[in-house]
Amino acid sequence: MKETRNTSQKDIIRKEIMLQSDHLTADQIYVLVKEKMPCISRATVFRNLKKLAEMGEIGFVPTMDGADCFDYRNHNHYHFKCNECHRLFDTDIPYDENLDKVDSEFKILKHETLFYGVCPECFAKHTV
Ligand SMILES: [Zn+2]
Ligand SMILES: [Zn+2]
Repeated sequence: MKETRNTSQKDIIRKEIMLQSDHLTADQIYVLVKEKMPCISRATVFRNLKKLAEMGEIGFVPTMDGADCFDYRNHNHYHFKCNECHRLFDTDIPYDENLDKVDSEFKILKHETLFYGVCPECFAKHTV
């Protein structure tokens, strides 16, 4: 019984993330899910997010300022964090599969790269 309940909560959380076109922090997702399931606790949402990310159903982007983000795109791609507006972007930088094949005593499955800098919108503000 408990399993079914967990599954449906997870499904609702996953569906909510899939509806988004942006990267969201766990807290932002919690607010969205709470609108659908007012009784759900923050801890439950966080636990399910972690599980979904571990299962590879959603992407997870750790950031240095602590606002880790979840991503509806679960294919491998690189991210860019703007130092000025602090938004997180998907980049068009091609994912380098060769890096996953490097010789190592560790079995590499994937890698994450986060680029830092200034996004085009913020950059444009400097030149006006
Ligand atoms: Zn920016
Ligand atoms: Zn992304």
